[in-house]
Amino acid sequence: MSKYKGKKVLIVGCGTSGTAVAKYLVKQGARVMITDTKQRTELSEVLKEIGDMKIEFEFGGHQERSFLGAELIIVSPGINTVNHQLVQAAKAKGTPVTSEIELAVSELEQPLIAITGTNGKSTVTMMAGEMFKSDNKPCFVGGNLGTPLIEYVNAGQPGQVAVTELSSYQLELTDKMVPAVAIFTNIDQDHLDRYGSMENYIAAKKRLLRVCDRNSWVVLNYDDPVLQGFANETVGKVVWFTMKNPMQVGGEFAEKFFGAYYDSAKNVIVAKVTGKEEVYTLDQFKLFGEHNKQNLMASLCAARVMGVSQQAIQNMIISYKGLAHRLEFVRKKDGVYFFNDSKATNIQSVQAALTSYKRSPIILIAGGKDKNMEFAPLGPLVKQKVKLLILVGEAKEKINRSLGDFAETYLVGTFEEAVLMSFQKSRNGDIILLSPGCSSQDMFRDFEERGDYFKKLVNQL
Ligand code: ADP
Repeated sequence: MSKYKGKKVLIVGCGTSGTAVAKYLVKQGARVMITDTKQRTELSEVLKEIGDMKIEFEFGGHQERSFLGAELIIVSPGINTVNHQLVQAAKAKGTPVTSEIELAVSELEQPLIAITGTNGKSTVTMMAGEMFKSDNKPCFVGGNLGTPLIEYVNAGQPGQVAVTELSSYQLELTDKMVPAVAIFTNIDQDHLDRYGSMENYIAAKKRLLRVCDRNSWVVLNYDDPVLQGFANETVGKVVWFTMKNPMQVGGEFAEKFFGAYYDSAKNVIVAKVTGKEEVYTLDQFKLFGEHNKQNLMASLCAARVMGVSQQAIQNMIISYKGLAHRLEFVRKKDGVYFFNDSKATNIQSVQAALTSYKRSPIILIAGGKDKNMEFAPLGPLVKQKVKLLILVGEAKEKINRSLGDFAETYLVGTFEEAVLMSFQKSRNGDIILLSPGCSSQDMFRDFEERGDYFKKLVNQL
């Protein structure tokens, strides 16, 4: 009999993971209530997912008695539990408070590959998943990206491994999962509106490090100073990936190197994770930018230590096409190239975008909802690469104060205006890049809606 049978469970947040966990728990015989501050009308899309399942709803706000009467509380990642009075009151009473991910992992019977970091999570998750599939090893690919893990559990776990992207929000309530592999892509400023400081943000990411045990593989980016330090704080088996040749780094790192590095002279990845040296050629790898080579190495290390064959990985490198909204080529019109990088919602991702283009001058469209970011670090790169900066959205004044002196800058009122102006001011050979450095919620539902709208406007030009 399920341990949830008859249990009074309160799910806080009626979003994708909240409704997925509700479906699972109803099937287990739990008595489920979902509470959300939004009105029913605002949630009609997600509610369609649930159909006529036996679930109680509380919309337009939370009642104290719902929290105090629950035997288990599951909080959605969008909700900050630290300052949440009702969650804290229930906790004080001894009620367990957990998350969809933690609940899913406790039921997972397969190895978990957990991916986190500031940027590259979705790309690494997809790439690693494709490597397993390329080796005829069916797997789950999802988490923060796409399908919640609990849906996979609910479907009877029809694969061999769970490749799961985890955001810092999802990690906040994590303390029990033991990943077979934990991948950390990089750490840079992000979500400071929620965390207040880099220390708090890093602490949330570090939760994934803390849950690793001696058998866990911990895949770390050697080129990231914060992540270099993570190696001393884990009992897991460290696997490095780096753009530097370990021989040039020297010392113990070179002698005992375990992981993958990029050899720029030969355009190959050299991996040492199986006792012998393996070489992967990138001549046919379609994604550009150094960051995508890092992403590829991170996924490769994870897949290889989990037994995916070298040939399957090489095949995936040749066939992989990349995800939409990440440096996605949209169109060439009158000699001008348009790229949609709507998923770039922080400084590091904009840096990665700007450094990825080697030649042409860039017209950069940026702005959106600020996450309490410091934009100044982009200054030198904007000066070097950007011929025109078009700013839009809530953060445009703030970005202008930090970056306006580094390129010719225009502040515009609407997104349509931004796209039109970018094209009017362009010349043959220019790149027009939407890489906002901000989240989208000032004007759009999410980064996908923003990117799709950008593509629509560009295709109408
Ligand atoms: P995440 O899931 O962490 O948001 P994505 O793979 O969706 O990561 O990419 C988000 C943004 O960051 C995109 O603009 C992408 O081009 C950029 N990006 C991807 N990988 C990296 C990386 N390793 N370093 C810096 N930026 C990256």
